[in-house]
Amino acid sequence: MLHSVDILIIGGGSAGTTTAIFLSQLGYSVLLLTREEKVKQKIGESLSPFANPILKKLGVWDTFIADGHLPCYGNKSSWGKPQLDYYDFINHPLGHAWHIDRCLFEQRLMERAIELGVERINNSSIVNLDKVKGKWQIQIDQGTTTISAKFIVDASGRNHYWARRQGIKRLHDDRQVALVTFLTAKHLPLEDTSSLVEAVPDGWWYSALLPNGCLVTAFMTDLDLHQRPEILQKSGWYKLLDKTYFTAERIHDRYSFPDEQPLLVAANSSRLQNFYGEDWLAVGDAAMSYDPLSSHGLTMAMVSGRDAAQVISAQLNGDRQALDSYADQMYSAYSHYAAMRSQFYHSETRWPNFPYWLRRAKF
Ligand SMILES: Cc1cc2nc3c(=O)[nH]c(=O)nc-3n(C[C@H](O)[C@H](O)[C@H](O)COP(=O)(O)OP(=O)(O)OC[C@H]3O[C@@H](n4cnc5c(N)ncnc54)[C@H](O)[C@@H]3O)c2cc1C
Repeated sequence: MLHSVDILIIGGGSAGTTTAIFLSQLGYSVLLLTREEKVKQKIGESLSPFANPILKKLGVWDTFIADGHLPCYGNKSSWGKPQLDYYDFINHPLGHAWHIDRCLFEQRLMERAIELGVERINNSSIVNLDKVKGKWQIQIDQGTTTISAKFIVDASGRNHYWARRQGIKRLHDDRQVALVTFLTAKHLPLEDTSSLVEAVPDGWWYSALLPNGCLVTAFMTDLDLHQRPEILQKSGWYKLLDKTYFTAERIHDRYSFPDEQPLLVAANSSRLQNFYGEDWLAVGDAAMSYDPLSSHGLTMAMVSGRDAAQVISAQLNGDRQALDSYADQMYSAYSHYAAMRSQFYHSETRWPNFPYWLRRAKF
């Protein structure tokens, strides 16, 4: 079987579906090669107010509002001092943030893409790739199906599947991981929907209420500072929680530890050495991944998808500088992010001799 399209996108997360929608709105034929998520709940639920205008351009704003995601009116943080600061989104020009049902959110983006005519092939592995007469020829399904495409987008997240196959190096600034739990409420949660960030000697905690009433918590740390089997157990997790003050107060007596073990996932900052190659480019986390402190990963994934669609269109219309300008934008976004990250980490000075903070002092 032969599928002939203008653009093949690998990965159906926020970056992949956003790129697909914008390309489709520009009149290109698009095929999304996706992989079924193995997890029940996807990690990363805070959506910054900067996402609001993009959701409108994608044509999903009305559905988004109807879906009942939780408005988040502020962030609380104990960072650099033992008291809580409060940032109120009333000061934000684009309004409040959101705590979203991430799976539903991505399902809606996929539905929108399909409504616009984007094709989707799920759970197929690439077995061979080649370039014939200037077009990519991608064989999937043990070679029984070939996809012919003028351009490839790597939207495969931190996996950076396509870039890896092209031999592109990934540069890692650190090795941070996140220990993530989804706690269930013992009673109907009556608390506000603020995010809570709390720094501790070995890292920092994040917690937020989800639309389904669960509380997601993530402890960002370096794995070599812990015994991996221990922190994956309930008792080890509570030992870590006991080093917090505000987070423990939020959780104790209100939320139960789930039956499942906490998840351990990469949460470091990294980027590709090159964001594009001949007739391909990377978007979202495949291109660069942010420390969750920024709370901007999803928004940046969508922004890069929007920008990539413009650049691909320009490239396909003969603009030879288009990919260079995309790379310039990405380098500049990463250096802006890196400067902000340094500022944040340098403002926590309470544990200057603890390895976690010593390492971040070098950012
Ligand atoms: C602990 C943690 C907390 C976070 N919290 C937030 C937050 O609160 N707010 C926020 O904005 N950001 C947050 N982020 C970041 C955010 O999750 C990412 O930036 C975002 O998911 C990037 O979207 P993406 O589409 O680029 O990648 P992904 O969401 O990773 O999607 C990539 C997709 O590609 C698929 N895929 C991979 N390989 C292949 C392949 N070979 N073939 C086909 N498909 C493939 C994957 O299955 C996946 O569906 C957090 C990150 C972490 C680690």
